[in-house]
Amino acid sequence: MKAVLFPGDSHTEIRDIEIPEPGPGEVVVRLTASGVCGTDVHYWHESAESRGDRAGVVPGHESVGVVHAVGPGVTRFEEGHRVVAGMLHIGCGHCKVCRRGEFALCGNKQVFGRTLGGSYAEYVKAPTQAVYRLADDLPDDVAVLAACNLSTAYSALRRADVRRGESLTVFGLGGVGLCTVLIAAEEGVEVVAVDPLAERRAKATALGAAAVLDPEELGAMIARDGFGTDVAIECSGHPAAQKQSIDVLVPGGRTVVVGMGGGYNFIAEEIIGKKATLMGTLVCRPDEFYDVLEFAGGHVDELRTLLGPRITIDSVDEGLRHSQDGGEGKVLFDWTVGKSS
Ligand SMILES: [Zn+2]
Ligand SMILES: [Zn+2]
Repeated sequence: MKAVLFPGDSHTEIRDIEIPEPGPGEVVVRLTASGVCGTDVHYWHESAESRGDRAGVVPGHESVGVVHAVGPGVTRFEEGHRVVAGMLHIGCGHCKVCRRGEFALCGNKQVFGRTLGGSYAEYVKAPTQAVYRLADDLPDDVAVLAACNLSTAYSALRRADVRRGESLTVFGLGGVGLCTVLIAAEEGVEVVAVDPLAERRAKATALGAAAVLDPEELGAMIARDGFGTDVAIECSGHPAAQKQSIDVLVPGGRTVVVGMGGGYNFIAEEIIGKKATLMGTLVCRPDEFYDVLEFAGGHVDELRTLLGPRITIDSVDEGLRHSQDGGEGKVLFDWTVGKSS
C-alpha cells in the first residue's frame, strides 16, 4: 500500500509498504476518507532528530473506511462494515484513569500516528476498542470531522458543563471552534463567536452563533463597559485570545483551554480576582464518542460547511500547507479516487 511518512524537517516521503495484518482483537480498515490535522502539521515540521523512531510511523489519526480484514477473536466487526477509528488515544484499559474511560490520560497509551501506524496510508490497523460502526446516515467525510474536531468540541462543552441559559464565548473559529458553536447553539446556549477573520465569523453565524465579534471589537467592549460571559472556550492557541478568555468572564466564570500554543498567558491575579475556573481538555472519552457520532449524523449539512479541499496522497504537501496556513476547511484525503469500489 501507499503511505506517507514524515522523516523530519518538513519533508514528506511516499513509500510502498506492506498492508498491515490484523492481530488478535484488531481489524484492518481500508480507508475511504481521512483528515489532515494541525497535530500532523506539527509532526511534519519536527526535526529529523526529534522525530527519532516516529519517522517510521505513518502519521494521522482521523480514519474512516471499510473493514478489510478481522483478526482472531474479533466478533463485533465483519468485512465490509463502515467504521471510524475514532479514538486517537488507546489506553491500557487497566489503570485508574482508563477505568474512568479517560484513555487520553493513560500513562501507557497508544496513539495513532505516533506509536501506531495512522491514516496517511491506504489501510490502517486498529484495536477494536478504538473502532466504531458508522450509521447509514453518517457519510464518510462528516465522520472524519467527528473523529477529531467534533469530538474535541463536545469534550470542551462537557468539561465546562455549559447549561441552557448560560452565555458562552468561543475564541478561534477553526474546525474545533465552529463545532463548539454548532453543538452549543443546538443545545440552546447563547454563543458569542470571536475570530479576526470575517469569513470564519460568517460561518459561525450560519451555524447558530447569536453574535460574532472581531477580537479588537471585543477588546474595546471589555474596556468600555465590561463584557460578561459565564463560560469561555479558547480554541485558537493565540496569546491575546488566551488573555481575553479570562477578561470576558463574569465573576466565578470558567474558561476551558483547547487551543495548543501561546505559552503562559493566564495571569494569576486575574484568575484569582474573578475566582475563575481554568480547565484543560482533550478529545472526548470513548463513551462520549457515541453521542458525538449521533450528533454528527443529525447535522450532516451543517458539518459539511466545515470541510475544505480534497487531496490524494500525491498532493499531501499541498494539503499540509493549506492546513498550516489556516486555509478554510478541514483538508480531506479522498482514498476512493482511482478505485473501483
Ligand atoms: Zn485531529
Ligand atoms: Zn491506562
